[in-house]
Amino acid sequence: MLVGVDRNLIYLLLCFSFSFGLKAKTTSLGEVPQWSDLDIFQESITRSEFIHSLDTVYCPRPEWWSAWISIKEDKASIRKFPQDDDWYDLYFKKDEKTPSSFTKAKSVSTNLRGLTIALDPGHIGGAWSAMEKRHFSLNDDQPVKEGDLALAVAKNLVPALKDLGAIPVLVRKKAEPVTQNRPQHFREVAVEWAQTVLGEDYNNTEKKNILIRERQELLFYRVDEIRARADLINHSIKPDLVISIHFNAAAWPDAEKRELVGRNDHHILVNGCYMGGELAYDDQRFELIWRLVNRWSVMEQGLAESLSHSFSQVTGMPTFSYKGPNALKIGEVPGVWARNLLANRIYRCPVVFLEPYIANSLSVYPRVQKWIKEGEGNTFDLVSEYTEAVLLGLQNWSAE
Ligand SMILES: [Zn+2]
Repeated sequence: MLVGVDRNLIYLLLCFSFSFGLKAKTTSLGEVPQWSDLDIFQESITRSEFIHSLDTVYCPRPEWWSAWISIKEDKASIRKFPQDDDWYDLYFKKDEKTPSSFTKAKSVSTNLRGLTIALDPGHIGGAWSAMEKRHFSLNDDQPVKEGDLALAVAKNLVPALKDLGAIPVLVRKKAEPVTQNRPQHFREVAVEWAQTVLGEDYNNTEKKNILIRERQELLFYRVDEIRARADLINHSIKPDLVISIHFNAAAWPDAEKRELVGRNDHHILVNGCYMGGELAYDDQRFELIWRLVNRWSVMEQGLAESLSHSFSQVTGMPTFSYKGPNALKIGEVPGVWARNLLANRIYRCPVVFLEPYIANSLSVYPRVQKWIKEGEGNTFDLVSEYTEAVLLGLQNWSAE
């Protein structure tokens, strides 16, 4: 959920941020990938499956990937570093009948019993919500904090998922960051970045100080926080699936005079749609290939479709459609889209990312206020309804 006009600014801030190692180019606070980790996937996927997955999920435009991935008859070669003729060769499985040297990483399980599900409540909430720009207030009403709503849904899901035989684990248990770092930790890298971005303008003290502060905060709540969650998920929880819980919001039609919007809808995201500029980063290129060869999109799409159906059924909300190139329509179910986000790229398992409800809409805002005042259990309760939709989606998916 992002209210206001700063979505583009944040995107620009993130895009400008890269660090050069010896010859590597990685996203903010990212690590140089170990391409040899892909060795276990040699001859595990056919040429046609690789191309199909690239086209329909991960990168729909050849002009976005052609500088980075070269598809030959027997292999896909992936450029390891920018401006360098050093490629990783991923050999294709010869045909369907040839036994693979690779034993399929994890067959797609749709049985909820014994399935470890990491519940990732989006953002931090609490005292941090204003800094992370997931916070708004109208008149004298209580402020709306996306992180707090998301945590309430996640906590609500825990006992219900246990009842279904699943093993739910909360990635965040309270309105505090998972990372131990704080904005001041990123002072040095923010100063360095501001010098590059501002150039001669760096002498403008006011401008410089604002930019450095915002950069430090962004690296804390947006980048390092997600990387800390990825550490927890990838190395401790090791789930079969991550469900990222969010509430959406619309830009204010008039930032000066805030008025609730008429629109209310939902959509579900899977990982995919890596754009050309994003593939220029070594770590993003690696993650794309890693997710593709693990075939995680199969599970992500199946579950996302079931969840979109269940949100339609339980809430009556229509689906949202993207207009720009940063999202790709996946499959036939209207509410399911692919986007490349840090929080669905670096978690090493299938991830579905839920974006229901427009929190600053005429129909949802009063329900949020009611939830803040009365908590759960009332008949109009937004958090209980969200929980019900997720449970129904999971149950229908597992029954397929
Ligand atoms: Zn969110």
